Amino acid sequence: MATKAEIEAIKSRLSIVDVVQSYVPLRKAGKNLQALCPFHSEKSPSFMVNPTLNIYKCFGCGESGDIFSFVQKIENCSFGEALELLASKAGIHLSYQKKDQAADDRRAQLFSLNKAAAELFHSLLLQSPSGQKAREYVQKRAISPEMQKQFLLGYAPDSWDTLLRHCTQKGYSLSTLEQIGLVVKSESGERHYDRFRDRLMFPVFDQRDRVCGFSGRALSEDHSGGKYINSPESELFHKSELLYGLNFAQGAIRLEGEAILVEGNVDVITLHQAGIASVVAPLGTALTTSQLRLVKRQATRIFLAFDGDSAGMKATVRSLALAENEGLDVRIIQLPEGKDPDAFVREGLDLWTQAKSSALPVIEYQLETVYRSHDLTSSLGKSNAAAAVLSLIAPLGSPVSRMFYLEKAARRLSTPLETLMEGSGKTGMVQSVQSRPSVKPASPADPTEIEFLRLVLAHPYLLKRLSDVESSWFDLVDTRAVFDALRSEALQGFKSEDFYAKLPRIQQDILAGAVFAWQGSRESELSADEEYAAVVNRLEFKAIRRELQKVEKAVQDSEADDDTRPLTDLLNHQQSLKIRLSKLDHMAEEKEN
Ligand SMILES: [Zn+2]
Repeated sequence: MATKAEIEAIKSRLSIVDVVQSYVPLRKAGKNLQALCPFHSEKSPSFMVNPTLNIYKCFGCGESGDIFSFVQKIENCSFGEALELLASKAGIHLSYQKKDQAADDRRAQLFSLNKAAAELFHSLLLQSPSGQKAREYVQKRAISPEMQKQFLLGYAPDSWDTLLRHCTQKGYSLSTLEQIGLVVKSESGERHYDRFRDRLMFPVFDQRDRVCGFSGRALSEDHSGGKYINSPESELFHKSELLYGLNFAQGAIRLEGEAILVEGNVDVITLHQAGIASVVAPLGTALTTSQLRLVKRQATRIFLAFDGDSAGMKATVRSLALAENEGLDVRIIQLPEGKDPDAFVREGLDLWTQAKSSALPVIEYQLETVYRSHDLTSSLGKSNAAAAVLSLIAPLGSPVSRMFYLEKAARRLSTPLETLMEGSGKTGMVQSVQSRPSVKPASPADPTEIEFLRLVLAHPYLLKRLSDVESSWFDLVDTRAVFDALRSEALQGFKSEDFYAKLPRIQQDILAGAVFAWQGSRESELSADEEYAAVVNRLEFKAIRRELQKVEKAVQDSEADDDTRPLTDLLNHQQSLKIRLSKLDHMAEEKEN
């Protein structure tokens, strides 16, 4: 890991403005800068950058952070990769990079071995006599030469050592070949042989176009192993964290904000060929959370286009229901029975477009499936369908959508809603409606307190005057904490770039809310000094008024008691507060005149 000093050095050399500007053009907007958000599609800019705190925030999609999170998000890379990218931009050499050089070299070696294998397979597909069967298959699926080249399709011949000999001749060691699963050791341990034999080879790329591993499709019926086999898990290949085709699809996914999930590798390729680029496939697994996350970084909507009969469909629908709970809009494209997207697209792009535009939300798709698979004319079929429908509707998060689908189901099953609802008690739906705790909205920040923070951050020289202000004047505990942090930071010579990062999340939000609060408020005609005096005045005024209310309450309470001494103190205190309050009032009035 990079040292703290290195991270700080990068932050102090690179401003958020420079970093963002190298991706999207920024326009000045008061003390901030604004742009069209690179993370969601919009027509008027809601993406804001604040140079004082070195942060950005999008008021459209909610993305926010510093230079590191910006690069991570826009480059779609890890923190480590963002760090390296920004370090080189800042001209800072990271100390750890030297130490990990050996590990990097080893990984680079593994990637280059995979690439050499992919290139061998590719040339065998195009030219070798033994590749005839594979060529016929590719032709039958009508995969164009351009697509074969782009996806680097290949053929692993029906031989025990073609790849092994090719790679060892090129100087790769047997253990390296074994490490990424290109060769397998025989049970006796005396012999090594090629893992992929007589298979059409699909190299699996990562998002940086490096070959991580392979997916191989059997070409003969009497193959050993499955119809598809993948590279085993290795340092480079983590099946559950890769999506086939993502490297070719990510640009389109980001642009369109949506991704299409298909089941087969060939579907990915033929959809690309038809001009539909935002398409990926899980590698023969039900969709995993990690795979979902890869797409979620760039898309807000996912379309699922699986062959409705396929085994993978059910499991995937289940994991997509989870995705929906995470706020992704998931829709299911209904393909004619027994058709995969590949076959469907061939019948015409219009049909595809039409099917996509009438894609169903997951819950509606699941309900449809229930209705279709039960005989709704028989009493047993109807009551089974009702039970299945209720078990699908019960877990829905919103009571409104539960009622919406219940009413729909009642019509569909021609059963009175009340009768259906009786059954819903048994599935726990009624309880879940009642026991769901209502979420209390967070108390809104006080506008004067936010205005104060906005002002001092817009004019950092005011930070020197924070000693004029009492911490207790801030009513809300989190705003007060932000103020305290700001004041102690100011004493040590305010360094905005790490100040923000050190705060807890809720305080970061307050601060971001404050610096971007200019939105909608017009520029003041007062000077910064005048504004500062006015807002400090108002802060104290409000604080004293609150204190006075408390004292008045205490006076009332203690008048009920007999003990008079504390009452005298209270009354004195009340009097002095009143004097201070009227003074503040007077000062404010003077300023207004
Ligand atoms: Zn946005």
